[in-house]
Amino acid sequence: MKNTFQAIVIGAGMSGSWVAKELCDRGIETLLLDRGPDVKHLADYPTTNMQPWEFELRGRIPAKEVEANPIATQCYNYYEGSKHFFVKDAEHPYVQEKPFSWIRGYQVGGKSLLWARQVQRWSQYDFDTPKMDKKSIEWPISYQDIAPWYDKVEEFIGVSGAYDGLDTLPDGKFLKPVGLSVVENQFRDVIKEHYSDRHVIYGRCAHLTEVKDIHRQQGRGLCQHRVICERGCPFGGYFSANASTIPWALRSNHLTIRPNSVVESIIYDENSEQAKGVVVIDRLSKERIEIKSNVVFLNAGTLNSNLILLNSKSARFPNGLGNDSGMLGKFVAFHNYRARMDAVCHDFKDRVIDGKNITNAYMPRFKNVKKQDQAFVRGYAIAIFANRYIQEETKGIGQELLDQMTIPANYGPWRVHAMMMGETIPKESSHVRLHEELKDPWGIPQLITNIDYDENDALMAEDFYQEAEAMFKKAGYTDITRIDTKQAPGLDIHHMGGVRMGTNPSNSLLNADNQMHACKNLYVSDGACMSSTATQNPSLTFMALSARAANHAVENLDLKKNI
Ligand SMILES: Cc1cc2nc3c(=O)[nH]c(=O)nc-3n(C[C@H](O)[C@H](O)[C@H](O)COP(=O)(O)OP(=O)(O)OC[C@H]3O[C@@H](n4cnc5c(N)ncnc54)[C@H](O)[C@@H]3O)c2cc1C
Ligand code: SF4
Repeated sequence: MKNTFQAIVIGAGMSGSWVAKELCDRGIETLLLDRGPDVKHLADYPTTNMQPWEFELRGRIPAKEVEANPIATQCYNYYEGSKHFFVKDAEHPYVQEKPFSWIRGYQVGGKSLLWARQVQRWSQYDFDTPKMDKKSIEWPISYQDIAPWYDKVEEFIGVSGAYDGLDTLPDGKFLKPVGLSVVENQFRDVIKEHYSDRHVIYGRCAHLTEVKDIHRQQGRGLCQHRVICERGCPFGGYFSANASTIPWALRSNHLTIRPNSVVESIIYDENSEQAKGVVVIDRLSKERIEIKSNVVFLNAGTLNSNLILLNSKSARFPNGLGNDSGMLGKFVAFHNYRARMDAVCHDFKDRVIDGKNITNAYMPRFKNVKKQDQAFVRGYAIAIFANRYIQEETKGIGQELLDQMTIPANYGPWRVHAMMMGETIPKESSHVRLHEELKDPWGIPQLITNIDYDENDALMAEDFYQEAEAMFKKAGYTDITRIDTKQAPGLDIHHMGGVRMGTNPSNSLLNADNQMHACKNLYVSDGACMSSTATQNPSLTFMALSARAANHAVENLDLKKNI
């Protein structure tokens, strides 16, 4: 393989694949590096067409595997059908100074194969909140800066959604919604009757409920509601890098993918004050290679992007590339998913869910939106799920079994479940840094995680419990139960910060265009760039920022010059 390219993108997951697609669309010769193996759409989804009885353990994970992988197996999505897309704990060690459940997917496609596909835009309120409560630095961009890129990403990936007209959660470019279940609809009506500031809406999700020309061009088809997406979808019914952005970029003939390429560091050239390429260690042969380019995009996933920068040391940057402010690795934040509430709804006994739900109901943030008026800062959104579970022992096989399963009386009552999705404050104390001695199998320093909850998270959770209980009571539900999963930060899998954007180089690393303040041909546009977390599932914003950053580079740097 040649060792010079016009652009290098580190990380072939959700955000990096968007950078690669945009660069290739603009004619830039791009190298997309990923530390994991290649995963080709269709060919490399080994379990996608397997029936439950074809799995040796009917999908379950044996105790010894849970013991060997105490972190990865915490993920609700880790089972016999999907486990090959998760990092195994022992193979990629890190040091938890404080507990942090670092769920990872190291392969071409990254975690875009595994995600739950929930996508919501930020609103201007979310960009303004840090300015209002002063608990984190101000964003250098506004909703208007990112809105056209949300449009672009949504149209391409396909988002099923309803036009809700809410200023707290702007509408986007939607495909038709599937709709809520009968219980979720009833809950929506109850909330509408009692609260003017709260709305229960259909959870926007990256599934093709209609196939537009742009999706047909990607070779993707209609979602069939199988809801086994984490095995890889043969229809391309949900957005993954593997089904969408990567094959699209490959068709341009401008993309080279190099899997099994562990990026050790980014090379900085003091004379030009530019990044000049990367150092790669081949995952299999352990050979060390240098590859040069005119621009480098860092999209290795939040904590790995932090790690690579911390490990990119030079005389000019002894504490990590671009780290003039000393802020690199600090102000890491996440979403607080610990607080849950369960209840029972005794209505609609004649109804069951027919088919499978690709999404859930969603209540956008309603606290501290326009002014700071709570005992805690920031706010939370709520995901609402309603389902009935079969109770009677189902008898027979074939048609007899099917008949039994479609009789509503064989099901227990509707169970309603609410999950807080709380914003956490990026704190200087919540940080990652390199271990001075421990190395991974490729000789790269291990990452230390020191990330924690705080008093604000506890106050917010208490508020959620009280509000969810009051709302459930208004809906007439019984058996209302508070749940604290006590899960460690990280299991939310919405990791953000450490390389944050800002207006001021003295307290941030990136400017308004995701360029490093001190090294303008290096862009970071995955979750590491986030100055605050808001409450929305973050990947849509990562993708929009990535598309925006790639186009900024094409328009403002000379990417085609000789290297
Ligand atoms: C079970 C689950 C459910 C989720 N649900 C949602 C959801 O509903 N909505 C939502 O918005 N988000 C969700 N997420 C989170 C979402 O998957 C991530 O936000 C998103 O994938 C992040 O994109 P990324 O490009 O930063 O990282 P990734 O998609 O993880 O891609 C990073 C890539 O970089 C590669 N890499 C890492 N280090 C190196 C290195 N040193 N050298 C070379 N390559 C490297 C990795 O192999 C990987 O392929 C979910 C995640 C999981 C696991
Ligand atoms: S639910 Fe839709 S996207 Fe998911 S696997 Fe099934 S067809 Fe594919």
